[in-house]
Amino acid sequence: DLKLSTRIQRIEASKTARFIPLIEALKRQGRPVISLAIGEPAVDTPGPVVEATKRALDLQQTRYSDMAGLSALRTALAGRFAGCGPENIVVFNGSKQALYSIFQILCDPGDQVIIPVPCWVSFAEQVKLAGGEPVFVGTRDHQLDLDAIASAVTAKTRAILVNSPNNPTGAVYPRRDLEGISRLAQEHDLFVVADEAYDFFVYDNLANTSLFDLEAVRDRLIVTRSFSKHYAMTGFRVGYALAPPAVAAAMVRLHSHLTGNVCTFAQHGAMAALEMDDGLLIRRRADLQRKRDLAFDQVAGIFPCIRPQGAFYLFPDISGHLKKGETSGDFAARILEETAVAVVPGEDFGMDGHVRICFAAPDDVLMEAFKRIREVL
Ligand code: PLP
Repeated sequence: DLKLSTRIQRIEASKTARFIPLIEALKRQGRPVISLAIGEPAVDTPGPVVEATKRALDLQQTRYSDMAGLSALRTALAGRFAGCGPENIVVFNGSKQALYSIFQILCDPGDQVIIPVPCWVSFAEQVKLAGGEPVFVGTRDHQLDLDAIASAVTAKTRAILVNSPNNPTGAVYPRRDLEGISRLAQEHDLFVVADEAYDFFVYDNLANTSLFDLEAVRDRLIVTRSFSKHYAMTGFRVGYALAPPAVAAAMVRLHSHLTGNVCTFAQHGAMAALEMDDGLLIRRRADLQRKRDLAFDQVAGIFPCIRPQGAFYLFPDISGHLKKGETSGDFAARILEETAVAVVPGEDFGMDGHVRICFAAPDDVLMEAFKRIREVL
C-alpha cells in the first residue's frame, strides 16, 4: 500500500457525516427519514441573492478575482466594524475555510489552542492539520469556565477559541465572560479566535456581545462570520474573517496558494445579501425563536435540557435514557434505526451523554420527530 502522510492519518472525517450510510439504507427501505442532524436552515436563499448571482453570471463575472475577496464586498463588510477597512477583511469559502486558514497561520508544531467543549466538530481537526494541539476545557451549564481556561494556559498556548452563539449548545456568552477572555489573552499574549457564524441569531432580546465590541482585544482578535446560516446560503460557500491587517495579509498569502479567490459570482450574491435591509433577518430570527420554544417544550418533556439563547440547536442530556454501556453515538444510531429520526451524538462534539438536535426545520417535521422519539423511549 502506498503511504499517506501521518498528518492526514491523524484526522477523522467530519463526524456529522457518520450516519449518512444508515440514512441512505433506511430510505432505500422506504422509511420516512427525518434529519435534524444537519446545521442548515430549512428556508430559501433570499430572492435578491439569487437574482444578483444570476445577474453576475449573465455579466460574465465568472473569472478569477481579487484573492482577498471582491473589493466592494470587503469594503461593505468592513463598514460593519468601527475603525476597520477592506485591509481587515478576507473572504473565504465559508467560515470553515477561514478557521482552517487561521490555525495554519497561528500554529507551529506543538502549539496549543484552547477549545471549550462541547465544540463544533472541525476545530480540533483543523488545529491538528496545522500541526497544533487542541486543548479541551470543560464548560459549566454550557457557559465558559474562566478559571479552567486560565489553568489550561501554558507556554505553548497560542490562542483561545470562543464560539458564541455556540454550536452545539446554543449558549450565548455574556459580556463579562468575554471580558475575562480578553484580559486573559492580554495577560498571556494570546490570540483570540471568535467564531461568530450565528451572530444574528440570538433570542429573547438578549444583547449579543461580539468580542469585537471589546476594544482592548482588537489587536489580537480574529473574528469569523458567515453568510451560510443567516441567509440560507450554505451551498454558496461564502464566509469571512476580520483580523488586524498583518494577520489578514498572512491569510491572503495562504489563500493565494490554497484557492485563489472565492467563487466570483457567489460573492456578488453575498453582496446582495448585505444590501438587503435587516427586515428579513429579523423575521427569520423571530421565527427561529418561535421554533426554539416549540422544540424546547417538546424536548424538555423527554430529557433535561438547558434553554438555548442563540443559534438553532438544542443539546439535551440523554444520559438517563442510555442502556447499559451505550454511548451517545450508540443512542443516536438506535434512535435512527427505531424512529428514522437523525440527530448528532454529543460525543462528536466532545461531550457524551447528550445529542444535538437542529430545530431550524418545518414545525410539522419537528413535531413528528419528537412524537416518534417520545414513543420509542
Ligand atoms: N462554525 C460553526 C460554529 C458552525 O456551526 C459552522 C457550520 O456548521 C461553521 C463554522 C462553518 O460554516 P460555513 O463554512 O458554512 O460558513
